[in-house]
Amino acid sequence: MKLSDIGEFGFIDRIEPLSIVRKAGVIKGIGDDCAVIDMEGEDYLLVTTDLLVERVHYMMDWAGPRVIGEKALAVNLSDIAACGGTPMDAFISLAIPSDITIEWLDGLYEGMASLGRKYNCNLLGGDTTGSVSDLIINITVTGRVNKNKVLYRHTAQPGDIIIVTGPLGASAAGLDLLLKDNREARDLFPQLTETHLSPRPHLEEARILADSGFCRAAIDMSDGLSSDLAHICEASEVGAVLEQSLFPVAESLTDAGEYLGKDPMDWALHGGEVYALLATIDEKALDELRQAFAK
Ligand code: ADP
Ligand code: MG
Repeated sequence: MKLSDIGEFGFIDRIEPLSIVRKAGVIKGIGDDCAVIDMEGEDYLLVTTDLLVERVHYMMDWAGPRVIGEKALAVNLSDIAACGGTPMDAFISLAIPSDITIEWLDGLYEGMASLGRKYNCNLLGGDTTGSVSDLIINITVTGRVNKNKVLYRHTAQPGDIIIVTGPLGASAAGLDLLLKDNREARDLFPQLTETHLSPRPHLEEARILADSGFCRAAIDMSDGLSSDLAHICEASEVGAVLEQSLFPVAESLTDAGEYLGKDPMDWALHGGEVYALLATIDEKALDELRQAFAK
């Protein structure tokens, strides 16, 4: 049997039963955006990790090292946001091919450090080793969240309203445009390619949702709306209805669809790497949250 036979999530389901040998302190293990750990005190510790592989997740000629460094950290901060948390410390492990220059690596760290400064996240350690071909970047980030304010995937309730904290489809459209012709894409659709290359973790939005007390479940849409909504539904044992006419889509998505001969709704529904949050909220709180976000 190959990984492709059961998929990433089939594989994760197989390893989950082996994962816990010491239950004490484990509030949430495999199955959410972060592991949630009770270290005693008012807050839980959050831990998340993400792996970026050259040619699988990014191309070296699409962006400079700073942009790649920022993105590598941003996708981890996004998982902290998905749990309603505040980032604390990052650990960066690199497998470096021999042709990469020190100047390039300096740029990578400048990118990570600048995003770290923005969100108050230290770069506190890691590991460095060689790689035979591609550059591999693994980042682990810790965070904290008040014990009463954690946002999980498994706590959505029937009757909740589904919201997203940013437009849909831009990152996937940006990726398809970059794959076709990265120079032309950046000229014609800078907003879409920018969204793909430089995602912003929605930590402020997460704070509003978690502090409101009305957010019942949340996830970041790294796999895309359809997959990530399914993760919330499966974990919460609920179903969901989406109203396509209400989808907030990125402005130039229709133009990009015409340019590439693709249906923009496919990007909006199934496109991944959307580092906005998908959340379910108490329907009574919709207006109040709208006002809080507008502010
Ligand atoms: P996200 O997209 O939020 O980073 P993933 O879809 O990558 O989350 O992972 C889903 C869950 O499975 C998470 O709880 C993650 O920690 C866990 N997970 C993923 N890969 C592995 C692995 N190789 N070993 C153990 N747990 C894993
Ligand atoms: Mg996630």
